[in-house]
Amino acid sequence: MAISSFAQIRRDLHQIPEPGFQEVKTQKYLLDYLEKLPQERLQIKLWRTGILVKIAGTAPKRTIAWRTDMDGLPIVEETSYPFRSLHEGYMHACGHDMHMAIALGLLTHFVQNPIADDLLFLFQPAEEGPGGALPMMEGEEFASWRPDCIFALHIAPEYPVGHIATKPGILFANTSELFVDLVGKGGHAAFPHKANDMVVAGSHLVTQLQSVIARNIDPLDSAVITVGKIEGGTKQNIIAERARLEGTIRTFSMESMALVKGRIESLVKGIEAGFECSATIDYGCGYCQVYNNEQLTNDFMDWVQHECNDVTLVHCKEAMTGEDFGYFLTEIPGFLFWLGVQTPYGLHHAKIEPNEDAIEVAIHLVSRYFTWLSKQS
Ligand SMILES: [Zn+2]
Ligand SMILES: [Zn+2]
Repeated sequence: MAISSFAQIRRDLHQIPEPGFQEVKTQKYLLDYLEKLPQERLQIKLWRTGILVKIAGTAPKRTIAWRTDMDGLPIVEETSYPFRSLHEGYMHACGHDMHMAIALGLLTHFVQNPIADDLLFLFQPAEEGPGGALPMMEGEEFASWRPDCIFALHIAPEYPVGHIATKPGILFANTSELFVDLVGKGGHAAFPHKANDMVVAGSHLVTQLQSVIARNIDPLDSAVITVGKIEGGTKQNIIAERARLEGTIRTFSMESMALVKGRIESLVKGIEAGFECSATIDYGCGYCQVYNNEQLTNDFMDWVQHECNDVTLVHCKEAMTGEDFGYFLTEIPGFLFWLGVQTPYGLHHAKIEPNEDAIEVAIHLVSRYFTWLSKQS
C-alpha cells in the first residue's frame, strides 16, 4: 500500500472517535487492516480495546516498541472537513487518528521490510483518561512481549510539517486532577452567625492554594495549580452549605507533585478547622511525567541532525502537558518527540486540522530510525 493511503486511513479513523476503553469500532477497523497484511511475521494479541502486534525480526537480539494512543475526546467538532466525526459530541481533537495512521504506516513498512530485531506495536486505549498505559503495562499480554526500548510521538500544532522537537530528560509534566468538596452549614443570608459559609471558605482556599506555588516550590523548579471551576450555594440570599473546587496540578518533578499534594492537604485541614466544616479531596486522574532517556534521545537527535536532511530538529523546552506514555518510560528506556503538523488551533480545539503531510514525514523518519537503531548494539 502506498504511503499516501495512510492519510485516507487517518480520515476513516477521524470519523469514528471513541472515548477511552470504548474504542470498539476503532479496534475493529485496525484489526480489519491488519488482517489484510501478509501474516507470516505477524502475531496479534488483544488487550481490552487495545491491540499488541509483534513483527518477528530476521535475527532478533531485542524488541523495539512503538506506541500509539487510540481515543478521541468529548468535543463537538467544528472543522471544515468533509470527513467530520460521525460520532456526535466526540472528536479526534488530539491527533490520535494521525498517530494510529502513522503506526499502521510503520507496521506496514516493517512487514514488507523486516529488520533484525523484533518490533512491537502497541495500540493503547484511553490516553485522555482514565489512562490506558499503566493497566496495559500491568497486563500479561504486554509482560510476555516486554520490549527493550519504546518510542512514541505526539502531533504538535505549533511546528511546521517537516519539523520535529524533543529533548533529553523531562518533556511533559506530572499531572493530577484536583477536586475539593467543602460541606458546612447553610442558612439565611441575614443570619451568618448561625451558619458556616462555604463560599467564604472556598474563596479562602483558592487564595491559599496559590501560596503553595509561590512559597513552597523551589523557584528553579516549576509547578502550576489551576482552579478552573468553583461551584457553591444555591441562591443569592442563602448562605452556601456546599462548595466544590475543581482544578489541576502540574509539576516538573515527582517530588514536587508529592510536596504540592501534601501542602494542599494541610491547607484543606486548616480550612476545616478555621471554618468548622468538613472537606474531602479527590485527585481524580493523574499521569506521571514523560522523562526521555538521555542516551537514546541524544543519539536520536544526533542521528536526525546528521542523517536526515529532510527533517528539521528543534531542541524544545519541557511542557506542562500530560501524557500517560510516561508510565512506559518509568520502566523501559525510550523517548517521545513532537511531530510538526502546523495548524492555527491547539490540541483539544474543536477546529484543529493537522496537516496530513506529516503522516508521511513520520513514517519515513521512524522507519529509517528503527532500521538504524537495529544495526547498533
Ligand atoms: Zn490530548
Ligand atoms: Zn494526545
